[in-house]
Amino acid sequence: MFYYPEHMEGFVTSVDEMFNGTEDDYRHYFQIGCPCGSKEFSLVQSDKQSLLATCKKCRRELKIYDLAFYTCAAKLKGPETYSQILISPEAACPIFIAYEYGETDEGDEFDRNDITWCSVFARKGKILEEVFDDETA
Ligand SMILES: [Zn+2]
Repeated sequence: MFYYPEHMEGFVTSVDEMFNGTEDDYRHYFQIGCPCGSKEFSLVQSDKQSLLATCKKCRRELKIYDLAFYTCAAKLKGPETYSQILISPEAACPIFIAYEYGETDEGDEFDRNDITWCSVFARKGKILEEVFDDETA
């Protein structure tokens, strides 16, 4: 079972053990990694709640949250502007993401794209700081 949406395939490693015990059947934690090997990113948020992480080393951009990708989410139409800086390029650091799912009804198949909540944490030195928290649907 994959407890992260399809668009994150290849970019996440499970880190439930880091968050001792706060994960459960519906909420799982991951560290974001770039295919170049780097794990440090800057992060910007759009006016439509999307998150774009940029690799410090190779500048590859990863969309780590976008309502357009999720089964039960509704994204507003129109142009999207990424203007809210959550982590500046100078402060690029390891980031962690939690995707949460609702309970599936009996007989319903699990849908990895049907996330209901997303939280993002930045590790600054030894401190893990929550930088984003959004209810998806
Ligand atoms: Zn990279």
